[in-house]
Amino acid sequence: AKSAGGNRFELADPEADARAITRHGLTTALPTALDRGEFFIEYQPLVHLGDGSVRGAEALVRWLHPQHGVLGPDRFIPLAEHTGLIVPLGRWVLEQSVRQARDWRDRHAEAGPLRINVNLSPCQLTHPGLVQDTVEILEGAGVDPDALCLEVTESALIGADDDLLKPLRRLAEMGVDIALDDFGTGYSNLANLRRLPVSVLKLDRSFTQSMQQFPADPVDLKIVEGIVSLAHSLNLAVTVEGVETGAQAEQLRILGCDTAQGWYYARPGPPERLHELALVDATG
Ligand code: C2E
Ligand code: CA
Ligand code: CA
Ligand code: CA
Repeated sequence: AKSAGGNRFELADPEADARAITRHGLTTALPTALDRGEFFIEYQPLVHLGDGSVRGAEALVRWLHPQHGVLGPDRFIPLAEHTGLIVPLGRWVLEQSVRQARDWRDRHAEAGPLRINVNLSPCQLTHPGLVQDTVEILEGAGVDPDALCLEVTESALIGADDDLLKPLRRLAEMGVDIALDDFGTGYSNLANLRRLPVSVLKLDRSFTQSMQQFPADPVDLKIVEGIVSLAHSLNLAVTVEGVETGAQAEQLRILGCDTAQGWYYARPGPPERLHELALVDATG
């Protein structure tokens, strides 16, 4: 930015500089990070709002960077999308998560099947190998397609044409669930929902935040109530994210939401943690 009065330029914001340098460093280190085994996955439980049982988990990727420590996905997923690494990285996440689902299944049949939710980036959606990779990963692990849910953001599907929807339709026909992630932030035409091969709406965290007060703002309640009733009339299940308090959970349950996810139940954690939670749950 120009300083007032002169032709002199102000010194750049040192923090912005540091961020740019880090971004550059991360972009350089990213392609080899997968081979070096620096990524790992945490799992956050998905809880049934009616009876509190653990039904599955969302896989959330992290990068254990040798210098910067653990980095959250917001720091590197955009870079991975930009560099194309998201395709092999996304495939790796899917493979690990599906193996994890098999492991949970084998270790506690009594708890009922745990389902696994995996995020798909828009670049993976347009990648021609998506359906085949997914089929191979499921078959390779001996996991039923019903145990998998792929999460696609609402914004990735806004205005989606048939070419983009075709692979998702194929996966849905096989029994894989498709969830519309961050729902309510993308201004999509609600009538449009009918043509999308989705079976789950994941209500964005902003709706959960508006349930902080008890009772919540009547207009917010009406909005969520409307979304839930529309979703259910289209045979879609509703999952809510970012549940941090019991009051939020209770209001969302009363509004008819089906499943919840958030710190109130558990933070994302290692796979053994989910195993324990589900086990406690099954044995009372
Ligand atoms: P998302 O799919 O909306 O995931 C939910 C995010 O909310 C996660 O952040 C989770 O840790 C956080 N969260 C869960 N419960 C609470 C809560 O009660 N309160 C608050 N404030 N936050 C909560 P995280 O792990 O940092 O992931 C951020 C985003 O990165 C994800 O948002 C998803 O879009 C993306 N992401 C994560 N893993 C992958 C991946 O394997 N592939 C792709 N393409 N994207 C991924
Ligand atoms: Ca998600
Ligand atoms: Ca299914
Ligand atoms: Ca989300």
